[in-house]
Amino acid sequence: MRNTLLQGLRPPLTEAAPGADDPELATLAAAVKEAAERTLGRSLAIRHVDAGSCNACELEIHALGNAFYDLERFGFRFVASPRHADVLLVTGPVTLNMREALKRTYDATPAPKWVIASGACAADGGVFKGSYAVAGGASSVVPIDLVIPGCPPSPEALLKGLLALLMGAK
Ligand code: SF4
Repeated sequence: MRNTLLQGLRPPLTEAAPGADDPELATLAAAVKEAAERTLGRSLAIRHVDAGSCNACELEIHALGNAFYDLERFGFRFVASPRHADVLLVTGPVTLNMREALKRTYDATPAPKWVIASGACAADGGVFKGSYAVAGGASSVVPIDLVIPGCPPSPEALLKGLLALLMGAK
């Protein structure tokens, strides 16, 4: 009991608060913003589709918008409807239950549109490859423009992927 109480008095184990802007990250995010404005004439709208992820990929994607990265200041927007999206960001292996939903989401996204398979599972099924419940990677259902490797990809890797996509589209 005493040990439990003492353990509760330890300081919280969290990351240190961010200091000034990480210059490398800010440069990368600014480059994506500039590429989006050059390619689309405005900021980039992203629709995330979880096709069956373990949710670690989602944690990294959500980190893009947290107080640490705060990337909405560079104009990225995650949108609720595929009808407002430029990019579909697919995570996880495509489970049989999500196959039709992913296909419909793709069909509902207006052209020009890009699809990114984010993470090893979206690339080819990853650790879930061969499961009876999995159709395969995202490319087994919709055409893919870019694969971002990683398990899960870090926020920096996601930004680099977005930049590569937009630079390739100009
Ligand atoms: S790539 Fe890794 S983190 Fe992402 S859904 Fe698959 S197992 Fe989870």
